[in-house]
Amino acid sequence: MDEEHDTSYKQNDPAPRYNGRDAAIYLAHLHGAKVLLGTATPSLESYHNARSGKYGLVEMPERFGGIQMPEIVVVDARQELKERKMQSHFTSVLLESLKEALAKGEQAILFQNRRGYSPTLRCNTCGWHSECINCDVSLTYHKWRNNLQCHYCGYQQELNKTCPACGSHELNLQGFGTEKIEDELKIYLPDASIGRMDYDAVRTKDAHARIINDFEERRMEVLVGTQMVTKGLDFENVSVVGVISADQLLQFPDFRSGERGFQLITQVAGRAGRRGKRGKVIVQAMNPAHPVIREVIDSDFQAFYEREIMERKAFEYPPFTRLINITLKHKKPDVLNRGAKIFAQVLRAKLGKRMLGPTVPPVSRVREYYLLDIMIKMERNPAIWKATKELVWEATRVMQQEEGFSTVRVNVDVDPG
Ligand SMILES: [Zn+2]
Ligand SMILES: [Zn+2]
Repeated sequence: MDEEHDTSYKQNDPAPRYNGRDAAIYLAHLHGAKVLLGTATPSLESYHNARSGKYGLVEMPERFGGIQMPEIVVVDARQELKERKMQSHFTSVLLESLKEALAKGEQAILFQNRRGYSPTLRCNTCGWHSECINCDVSLTYHKWRNNLQCHYCGYQQELNKTCPACGSHELNLQGFGTEKIEDELKIYLPDASIGRMDYDAVRTKDAHARIINDFEERRMEVLVGTQMVTKGLDFENVSVVGVISADQLLQFPDFRSGERGFQLITQVAGRAGRRGKRGKVIVQAMNPAHPVIREVIDSDFQAFYEREIMERKAFEYPPFTRLINITLKHKKPDVLNRGAKIFAQVLRAKLGKRMLGPTVPPVSRVREYYLLDIMIKMERNPAIWKATKELVWEATRVMQQEEGFSTVRVNVDVDPG
């Protein structure tokens, strides 16, 4: 399995919720076969298994084909902002590097992990912001369609001209996605041909192949993109890679946020460099002292692993425990709240402190359904594991048999990723 750490192996929605890597390992186990996991940025789980002797470990300290590791430069965006050196979302260091590369006929990739133009439309007068009618998320402005879109349910509406709450005309687009980066880069690099690769850009037939082909054939000089540009693309002529906002990559509300950040920045950095010439990676950050950023610059997976695994142990997270995330859903919030109480009672009686919640998740409503989360954190013990599985079924049965709660939906995600 190549890129064993990759989050796209994990299916979160709809059921079956499973990790393709773990399924492969289990299948191999049933047949007495071996699995080879490959990656430059191992998942904490796999590396822990290798260190504890459960897996064998083969290391390749040099890049394939003898290509040098790129030079990684972190730029303090806050300092540049203070000194008024920033142009829109670009530091002077990044813009200079881009100009240098283009002058030499080389290419560049810019990474921004958010699509659309701006993620929020806000009123300066009263603080109102555009929200989806079906979900608890703000609507993203897309310039090419000149409308607002929900990235959870696909709902779309026209851009408001006045604030629906107070009538003010002072509406402001806040934040930035790939579309805005592409758009504004054209101001500073007027002669460059700039393209974009994200979910919106590859929606039409053959678009993905066409973008890659244009870039490969050098008809496009700068490629702006989301995670899509980090995956297994190898372009000979790319000498500069820019990470627009490292901070955003380290702010997932999840215990894996450090791991994800390390993997993403390292993977995107790996796109820079070619035979005989060292590539350059510019990482823009408001907080350049973040430990994960330091570890990425030093290409020091060991240091990252040692620090991260200590935290996982201290706070009892995987790989030291296993998690089950249970999401309860209903269109009526009061039905959901009362149903979740019944459900949680059954679990708590047996699990005690192993059960956390119910809590309101960061996005509390999706496609008209209100959501509540319950987390089970348990020891890695097959007997407890089996009993807990049965307990979750029992809690579901008890709640749904109760009058009025048969329509509360229960989604169970084992080893959430
Ligand atoms: Zn307003
Ligand atoms: Zn929505």
